[in-house]
Amino acid sequence: MKTILKCGKLFTEENDTVQQNMAIVVQEGKISQIASAERADCTRAHVIDLSDKFVMPGLIDSHLHTYIGGYDKGFLPIALDNHCLTVLKCLSRAMADLRAGFTTICDCGCADFGADLSLKQAIETGLVDGPRMLVSGPMIATTSFYFPNCDMVTRTVDGPLEAQKAARDVIAKGADIVKLMATEGVCSPGPLGLPIMEYDEIQAACNVANSLHHISRAHAHGAEGIKRVVKAGITLVDHAMLIDDEGIDLMAEHGTYLCPTFTAGYRMIERGAGTDLPQYMVEKSKYALEQHAGHFQEFLKRGIPIVFGTDTGTPFSAHGEQGVEFRLMVQFGMSPVRALLSATRTAAEFLRIQDKVGTLAEGKCADVVAFDKNPLEDISVMEHCSFVMKGGKIYKQTCAESACCQ
Ligand SMILES: [Zn+2]
Repeated sequence: MKTILKCGKLFTEENDTVQQNMAIVVQEGKISQIASAERADCTRAHVIDLSDKFVMPGLIDSHLHTYIGGYDKGFLPIALDNHCLTVLKCLSRAMADLRAGFTTICDCGCADFGADLSLKQAIETGLVDGPRMLVSGPMIATTSFYFPNCDMVTRTVDGPLEAQKAARDVIAKGADIVKLMATEGVCSPGPLGLPIMEYDEIQAACNVANSLHHISRAHAHGAEGIKRVVKAGITLVDHAMLIDDEGIDLMAEHGTYLCPTFTAGYRMIERGAGTDLPQYMVEKSKYALEQHAGHFQEFLKRGIPIVFGTDTGTPFSAHGEQGVEFRLMVQFGMSPVRALLSATRTAAEFLRIQDKVGTLAEGKCADVVAFDKNPLEDISVMEHCSFVMKGGKIYKQTCAESACCQ
């Protein structure tokens, strides 16, 4: 049976216009037709009335962690869970992301390698419901840095040979992305932005990713660490909060993507002050966001491709609440339309899945979400998704009725 979504306002993202009174016809999980509501053939169709909604492609959060839930103290408690329990917790968090409109998520570092992969396979084979997933497996870091003495969280490498081997290993085991920890960060105890991977280590891992046609990405805050990863051929830089002008020039020259992740620092400042969270994380977040505010305008002016990502799972960033990132992006200077594109078309291009998702077009997966108001007029509505369809199946529906017409 086919399903017809009647859309009051439709933003397919194939172009920058919002269309009125359209219909999306869904058959066997794919979009078979997009036409004006009057022209759509409703015979023997299940019709869903979204005529008072703003309808757009399913959202993509290209940076989150399912192994952590946002309210844990730091990252270490996961070491207490066995593998099966970790997978179940990851599933429950991924479902919260899906119900918030994120039909695709990218798990950027899972402490228990295999948990992210197991979940991805279980979803892909239809064993359990969940969002589309891309995974990186463990984060690759160096001895005694980022999470010192916590091999559960990172894969430790020293020297280019070990970096090369680690990149090959995660790809061979099924990772979609090679994730490097190139500098100290907000959640690690070391100085924010201190480079912790040498250039030849980064280059060795990037070369493996590139030659095996995989994406690479690096957590990097400081200018020196950012320049190392960009020069080494990384696909995307995460955070980049302490970048300098030369670093921005290099990213523009290399066509490197940026994933800004405002949410993580914002939530730690908003909810973490005065709690038992190590307070250095709150202080680092304040400094990093101040710096980020200054650079973000420059990223926008220079046309650096910006990909939506939230680092959800980090302290006080709960799964299902990451729609706040849209509001923060706009607050820091991005236009609402560009903010929406960052979580759909641009994210799909970065993840190399644009043939399936990212825009609404005939032949693409029926990943469709809807909101009660027009986010181009009020971006805060992105925090309250009211309809979620992934692959033609509905996961959230708050509209009053659906009906079969004859
Ligand atoms: Zn992260």
